[in-house]
Formats: sequence, structure tokens, C-alpha cells
Amino acid sequence: MQQDILTLAKALIQRPSISPQDCGCQQLIAERLQRVGFQLEWLPFGDTLNLWATHGEGDPCVAFAGHTDVVPVGDESQWQYPPFSGEVIEGMLHGRGAADMKGALSALVIAAETFVKQNPHHSGKIGLLITSDEEAAALDGTVKVVETLMARGEKIDYCLVGEPSSNQRFGDIIKNGRRGSITADLIIEGIQGHVAYPHLAENPIHKALHFLTELTHYQWDNGNDFFPPTSLQIANIKAGTGSNNVIPGELYVQFNLRYCTEVTDEIIKAKVAELLAKHQLKHRIHWHLSGKPFLAGKGKLVSATVQAVEKIAQTTPRLDTGGGTSDGRFIALMGAEVVEFGPLNTTIHKVNECVSVADLTHCGDIYYHVLEQLLSK
Ligand SMILES: [Zn+2]
Repeated sequence: MQQDILTLAKALIQRPSISPQDCGCQQLIAERLQRVGFQLEWLPFGDTLNLWATHGEGDPCVAFAGHTDVVPVGDESQWQYPPFSGEVIEGMLHGRGAADMKGALSALVIAAETFVKQNPHHSGKIGLLITSDEEAAALDGTVKVVETLMARGEKIDYCLVGEPSSNQRFGDIIKNGRRGSITADLIIEGIQGHVAYPHLAENPIHKALHFLTELTHYQWDNGNDFFPPTSLQIANIKAGTGSNNVIPGELYVQFNLRYCTEVTDEIIKAKVAELLAKHQLKHRIHWHLSGKPFLAGKGKLVSATVQAVEKIAQTTPRLDTGGGTSDGRFIALMGAEVVEFGPLNTTIHKVNECVSVADLTHCGDIYYHVLEQLLSK
């Protein structure tokens, strides 16, 4: 598997698939999978290419998920090696997407391919869900594939996402859930006027101060075994005309909550509404929910992944739900147990992104071992 993973990872890095472009990456993967008997289904939406490749039938359905798109390289002159060369220097594979996540994607593909070759009559179904729209808008990628599969009653029981979860050492962290993320765009309405005649105006900044203090001090919950407490942060605040003699007519404030499974978006919205009413603020509010929290707890896939990491990386991984959102949030909507495991995330989205070739080999062995535990007869 080792050589195949490296060869595929290099070939993927050499295709400059800046999100949402795919640049032939999925074709390369599809050809490999088709050769060992996978059924291919192309699910393009908008400018995004998605591939759903499956092998076998029935329960359970174990899916591997990943993306072929990468973030832009930034200032190319700052890169030690060209970002789309895929060079291996002293055991490190260099290039944009090496760690996030063409390296792990190659390991997922080769692990599935090898497993199917060695266990052609495995139980259940293996699926690979690959998208070219994870890094940018994430509107036409995994979310659309999930909608398509759900509409026809197809299900995924377990899903391993190859996002780079390792933090300090390879194998130290498995993500078994993610916090939810919700943003409010709030406008507090006042009445514009001359600062010398405040009785003829209504200052929305003054009116908002007590509300904002209470909002930012409110304790939403205490977290739980898997999640830190919910946190609210004001990201943007704006008011005023720039002139020192005008009371502004409106105050705009944007805040985001990273929330755990102790609250819901409904609870959050209701609490904010209650505080706005308490402070008698005339307002307009618009909410944007980017992802509900999900938690795989300590299910079968979590156990299989922990066991595989212990066996291959010889370390006991910690279960963690921190970090930003990933496509796991969409797959969790299907009721799947979703786990993320992959190589070190130290260089992701940076110049000189790179990944250890040995870690990629270990990833392949770990992914293979997970399939063995869930689908061997
Ligand atoms: Zn990624």
C-alpha cells in the first residue's frame, strides 16, 4: 500500500485543484476504484464535482469521505518547493493539499482498494464520498450528495473523514464530533439626530450597551464530557457616521456562537430574543446556522478507530470535538456515526504545507484496519 499511497498523493498534488475545481483528481481516483469493482456515480452540482463510489450491498454502509479541492497557495515565492510539485524531501511530501487532504484521501482510497481486493466478498457496503467543494462555499459538495442519498433512502451507518486531526504527534487526536456554529447579524434601531439635542434622538449605542454586556456574560451551559462550554464572541460592531456631532440611527453587531450539544439553535435564538425584549430594543435580526453540533460519542466506529490507531501508531488517541467545521456536519445529518482521523494539521492552509510519508502509510494501515473491524466476515 505504501508506494501506491505516495504515488496517488503526488499525482493529486500535481493537479492544482483550487476550490471548487477538481482538475481531474476524482477521475484518477475513480479509475482506480472501478478497476477493483467499485460502482461509480458522478454527482456534479454547479461548478462542483462529486463522486459516490460503492462496493458491496446491504448493512452496514461504511463510508470514507474526503475532498480534492485545496485552498489557494498565497505568495508562491514564499514556498520552499513549488506548491504543486509533490516533492518528497527527507521523508516529507510537500505541496498544497499534502496534509489537507490529498495525502489522507490517497490513504483512504488505497485502503479501500486493498481491502476490496483482499476481501472481495466482505459484508455490507463500502462507499467513498469525494467532493471538490469543502474549502470554499461547501454549498454544492457533500451537503448535496447527502441530500441526494437521503432522498432515495440510501443510508450511511459509519463515516470516517480523513481530515488532518492529529495535533502534536501523529495519532494523538480523533475527532468524534464538532461544535455547532451559528451567527447573528443584529441591527439595533435608534433615531439619528444632533448630539447637542439628544432629547430629539435615540442613541442605539447607549441603548445596546447593557444588552451586550448581559449577552456576553451569559453562561449558556457548562459543556459536557465531550464538549467545552458554549462560547459567544462578538465578531463585528459598527455604528456612527464618522462625524462627532451626529447620534447614529443604527448599531450593527455580529456575533457567533460555537455551541455544544447542551443547547440547540432554537434555545440560543429564544434566549437572545428574550434579552432583546428585556432591554426593550427595537431591532432587526438575521440568523445564519452553518452547522448543528454532532457527536459520535463512543460508538462502534469510534472504538474501531481508537483500536486501529493504538495498533498502528502505538499511542492512545484522545477524543476531541474542538476546531472548525468540516463536511462531517452534513454526513451526521444522515444519522451516521461520524469520526475524523488524519495526519498532523500543523501546516494546513500555510505556505510550505507538508506531511510525513510515514504518517500517510500509517493512515492507510489504520483506515484498512477500521474496514477490517467493521466489514470482515
Ligand atoms: Zn480539509
